[in-house]
Amino acid sequence: MQSWGKAPAPSVIIDLSPIVLLRGNPNWGWVEAAVEVWRKQHDPQARFYGVADNSLYYKLDEAGKRGLSQWKRKRMARSVSWADPEVLELATQFDTASVLTTDLFRDHRRDFPWLQGTDRIWKPVVGDGTLGFERLDYAPIPAMEVSWRIEEADLTPKGFKTREARDALKYEWRCTTSSCHWASEAVIEEDPAIRDGRVVCPACSAPASRLGFRESTKEIVLLLGDDEVDRLPVPERSELTVGRGRDIGRYDVREVLEDAAANKVSRDHLKLINNGGRIFVEELGSKNGTNIVRDDGVAAQLQECVQQALAPNEHLTLAGGALTIRLSGKKRPRGTYEPDLTTPPFLRVEGN
Ligand SMILES: [Zn+2]
Repeated sequence: MQSWGKAPAPSVIIDLSPIVLLRGNPNWGWVEAAVEVWRKQHDPQARFYGVADNSLYYKLDEAGKRGLSQWKRKRMARSVSWADPEVLELATQFDTASVLTTDLFRDHRRDFPWLQGTDRIWKPVVGDGTLGFERLDYAPIPAMEVSWRIEEADLTPKGFKTREARDALKYEWRCTTSSCHWASEAVIEEDPAIRDGRVVCPACSAPASRLGFRESTKEIVLLLGDDEVDRLPVPERSELTVGRGRDIGRYDVREVLEDAAANKVSRDHLKLINNGGRIFVEELGSKNGTNIVRDDGVAAQLQECVQQALAPNEHLTLAGGALTIRLSGKKRPRGTYEPDLTTPPFLRVEGN
């Protein structure tokens, strides 16, 4: 499936989460600094494109949230459940682009063989308060180690040792602690945690509530015209309302649309419902309506307050075409269930 729209090809792809977390505390300033320094040291004309994990938004302060939102509005960034494969797919498509990250992507080397021995990947380094770049050492690693890394990455998160705990990973989970940032989203999009045999929210450690089967989760793709900007999971038996306003189970178009376009979207504009693993859409009586565009390109206005199924080859347009919504052709990623990949398995001490 084509993942690139009409935006100009990037020459530098940024894995946003590790750059923001460069020194531990989340700081969007590292992204801006990386852009500035790269332009000075490598290419004044560089065109940057960032990929964020959905969880990054909640780690950012207000200025950082505005920064990310600006990048999205300018079609310079997208946010997805799991950034790693997205970064690497874009880097495969734009095969002369450099990549800024801190990750060695050892568990991805079979799917992206060009990683072995590549000199395209750079890591920002901070010394004396100034930022610079170092080439990451992508010396080829043996096939056997690649296999280990893949196996390791497929392992369940720490603490998920019993069968009951592992079964928990077949489901989606939600946090209901009002003060927790994950409570404002329909799904916890980070590695789950387990405590005393119970699944808990990784952010606030309160018991998480179980949603539907992960397998039945559908991903919704939001695009500005043809350019993808957000991808969000909608678990079974849950809903996503698209409109103006940020709240639980809502997608706030103001994050990505300029004011003029956002104002064409009603507060409660459109609802997407996952019913048994199928997505149904319902126009909520918005002022400017929603169009559904069929496979043959014929557009029709969605009827108010009627739920109808959205097929994979159909899409919706809002705000005079400024915002497009379609289903993702991809399976819900297995998640970010990544153990620490920095230590090879033969050196790892159990319980460490
Ligand atoms: Zn929580």
